[in-house]
Amino acid sequence: MEEVKHISETEPEEKPVFKLEEKHQEVAREIIEKHVLQRYRYKKVCKWCKGSRVSRITEEGVIIPCSRCVSIIPALEEWKEYCKGIKELKEKFT
Ligand SMILES: [Zn+2]
Repeated sequence: MEEVKHISETEPEEKPVFKLEEKHQEVAREIIEKHVLQRYRYKKVCKWCKGSRVSRITEEGVIIPCSRCVSIIPALEEWKEYCKGIKELKEKFT
């Protein structure tokens, strides 16, 4: 019997998929935590993110910090600094 190679026609177009690795996500979370606004740091729980500090996580695994309780700009600056040292992140984020 002849071997038939099945080639799916419904296979989606190959596109380069960027996915932020777990270890980088951890760093991102550490950076976010460092930049939590003082008044949300200890007692006040942020009602927008319920203390998670995360607004949302993109399909690429990029963590978008909560803009209510995290000082976004310095956090972003620090993230960019981190990315400078890592080739695949440098291309993406800096
Ligand atoms: Zn928040």
